[in-house]
Amino acid sequence: MPKFQFCPVCSHPLEIKWLDNQDRLVCTNPVCSFVHYDNPTPVVAALIEHEGQILLARAVNWPPDWFGLITGFLEKNEHPAEAVLREVKEETNLDGKVIELIGLYTFKQMNQIIMAYHVQTQGIITLNEELAEYKLVPPAQVEPWAFGTGKAVADWLAKKGYRL
Ligand SMILES: [Zn+2]
Repeated sequence: MPKFQFCPVCSHPLEIKWLDNQDRLVCTNPVCSFVHYDNPTPVVAALIEHEGQILLARAVNWPPDWFGLITGFLEKNEHPAEAVLREVKEETNLDGKVIELIGLYTFKQMNQIIMAYHVQTQGIITLNEELAEYKLVPPAQVEPWAFGTGKAVADWLAKKGYRL
């Protein structure tokens, strides 16, 4: 279950200790104070509105009926609003404009915090190697999924009056 076995600072084994009211991986070397806090990873997500339709994409390693938002990690020193437009460009070749931050969402299973943006795009869609296919869906027909970025989709649709 633990992701790391050895201390990244001194290479001694890590052990689980009760610290700050939770189990944490702590270095066993008495002169090393390393604690693996396992902080959530920030992730940006783009709800792409392309020519009035919502772009949903399927990653190459996803099942055939799974489609989701464009997501990605931030580069060092990058603002989330820049990161989301970079990811949109990299994965779809579309030029995007951030309309608004939809919200922040925890994705506990992945230990991520998702920053979801509404992005309007223009250009010709060309997927990169991370994506297998995409579909463009009218907003009223988008069915939000129950986990991860799905909550951002549901919030956006509700705000725009497409869903209760
Ligand atoms: Zn250590």
